[in-house]
Amino acid sequence: MKTFCGRANPTTGSMEWLEEAEDYDYHQEIARSRYADMLHDKDRNVKYYEGIRAAVSRVKERGEKAIVLDIGTGTGLLSMMAASAGADFCYAIEVFKPMANAAVKIVEKNGFSDKIKVINKHSTEVTVGPDGDMECRANILVTELFDTELIGEGALPTYEHAHKYLVQEGCEAVPHRATVYVQLVESKRMWSWNKLFPIHVEAEDGEKMIVPPSEMENCPGVPSVCDIQLNQMPSSDFTTLSEVVTMFSVDFSKPVQSASTCYRVQLEPVKSGKAQIVLSWWDIDMDPSGMINCSMAPYWVKPTSTLQWRDHWMQCVYFLPNEEPVLQGEKVCLTACRDEYSVWYKLQKAREEENKGAVRVESPVCRCHAHLLWNRPRFGELNDQTRTRQYIKALRKVLNTESVCLCISDGSLLPVLAHCLGAKQVQYLFLVFRSVQCSLAYSSHLFKANHLEDKIKVIEARPELLKPSHFEDKKISVLVGEPFFNTSLLPWHNLYFWYARTAVTSHLTSSVTVLPQSASLHMMVVEFQDLWRIRSPCGICEGFDVQTMDDMIQDSLNFRESKEAEPHPLWEYPCKSLSDPQEVLTFDFTKTVPQHCLSAEGSVNLLRKGRSHGAVLWMEYHLDADISISTGLIQISNEKGNCEWNPHCKQAVYFFSSVIESETLSDPGAITYAISFDTKTGEIAMDFKL
Ligand code: SAH
Repeated sequence: MKTFCGRANPTTGSMEWLEEAEDYDYHQEIARSRYADMLHDKDRNVKYYEGIRAAVSRVKERGEKAIVLDIGTGTGLLSMMAASAGADFCYAIEVFKPMANAAVKIVEKNGFSDKIKVINKHSTEVTVGPDGDMECRANILVTELFDTELIGEGALPTYEHAHKYLVQEGCEAVPHRATVYVQLVESKRMWSWNKLFPIHVEAEDGEKMIVPPSEMENCPGVPSVCDIQLNQMPSSDFTTLSEVVTMFSVDFSKPVQSASTCYRVQLEPVKSGKAQIVLSWWDIDMDPSGMINCSMAPYWVKPTSTLQWRDHWMQCVYFLPNEEPVLQGEKVCLTACRDEYSVWYKLQKAREEENKGAVRVESPVCRCHAHLLWNRPRFGELNDQTRTRQYIKALRKVLNTESVCLCISDGSLLPVLAHCLGAKQVQYLFLVFRSVQCSLAYSSHLFKANHLEDKIKVIEARPELLKPSHFEDKKISVLVGEPFFNTSLLPWHNLYFWYARTAVTSHLTSSVTVLPQSASLHMMVVEFQDLWRIRSPCGICEGFDVQTMDDMIQDSLNFRESKEAEPHPLWEYPCKSLSDPQEVLTFDFTKTVPQHCLSAEGSVNLLRKGRSHGAVLWMEYHLDADISISTGLIQISNEKGNCEWNPHCKQAVYFFSSVIESETLSDPGAITYAISFDTKTGEIAMDFKL
């Protein structure tokens, strides 16, 4: 069997379907999976174990045999806990074949083969009866099928089915219940991830304003969850307008309904302000008493307890369709609607709500097209006024009354900025978008709102197919890009701008200005506060040997021989720099892409003691000789080496195959590197040695 994987080619900008070996998919799945993170989640593991022990003893006290159904067994961990706690038999269901195979090995290695039957099926395919997968229905239901939004991985339909067909009435469930909490907040920072703010442009002929299209005002956006490490959001970046309230809860020991529904709560604002955001998280009670509780509450809610760091469960940010002024003490009604897999919110004045009947459960659909074109970090980037000012400053220097300007970037506001900077100065502006459909729809709204319909021409063609007629036979004198492309995964994928620039060379004047004029790749060795856990072996988990899983992850990471860097938004993952940041490669946009590879070799000195977990790489764009934009490091904020990162971008993280401890060295030493940019593929390969 062959697997086809969709991937954007960073040299052509187009999606390509690559044929991969059968095992490609699962190596990717395992190498980048959250299994390691779950196994490192001590708080979760301890509480599951306590909850399972309590459930097994309750069943035993009733004089019954303890028959466990573990849906989504993964490594087999929860079944092994149940067997150790005295369960008579466990059915461990796992749909993902490589994991089911691993579970069989791990169960055997730990000596539980006679107590645990691993079944490689989706739970809805499992049969019960004398010839079935399960001999009889279970009386203990153990699962861990939750994502940050609780229900996003299909927990509800899985429970609904299990109660109908796989477990006895009155079964014990671990966890026993889940509760979803919400808090209403005002936050300019988070709201900037959802709406385009007006942009002020200081032009020579006065201050101008770029306004968002009116279609955006009430647009509910898209229902995909915005999950973040809320513990990294400083309290100065938001104002809480309500107490934390319970939105809804699910009792897993009773039949569960997955059909779409709504929940409502009355909130009494503790402060007046603009309601924009609903922050949400959940907790699970492992037993009916509620004594064994595992909570995702953020730091300001549980300031005394030590927070368990985890990446597989975070917190959710929901955006209200539009901002709503609320007054302290004046009740409002918050409605959560959900379908089988996602949740969304509405806020109404309490009186408005009385007059209305049932709220319709209608999944939000983006009407303004911007939410289809821009993801949340991209909204934040476009709303970053400091960044915009840099582009304005640079553009103002290069545009003149004769300029014929071409912009190449996805969903960019640069053409609008350029036009605002002096419509008289710019004769024509052209855009080339890659995600053409929503780009066209959105830009037509935006241009209309700003009376630019006939001022900016959108070209629907790939750069290599552009003809002189696209530019009305004029040559381009100013070529601009942010650069930004929707399909970029790693920082250097935006170098597609360089390839596009190369493809349009014949349309450029001989003295063309290219903005940015160049880019550089930067690198720094870091010690992560927590992120290292996701790639660190676990060995023994709560007394169970899960090394088979460690080996399997290692195997998958080595699958491509050369390990690859992976994208992470580092503002969410604190780290400290152990070396100075170093520029390793430069890319000259004033010239075309060369035929040969660009390589750099060298060494970085470790300046601070610490554990070198890996290297972080990012791009900086030099708009001109004086103005640069960093998509990575903003600054090293203190002598301890704590880093501040661009909050709108993901950086590339290359995890070293083994952690280098410089704590023990008197001289912290150096790390040598070899980094090379393959101009044929647009990819960067790297290697590091102590
Ligand atoms: N129980 C393990 C792993 C949890 S991860 C632990 O707690 O450490 C969830 C696992 O459930 C994944 O491996 C996923 O493949 C599997 N899964 C999710 N839904 C399933 C279903 N309905 N039937 C079978 N497996 C499922």
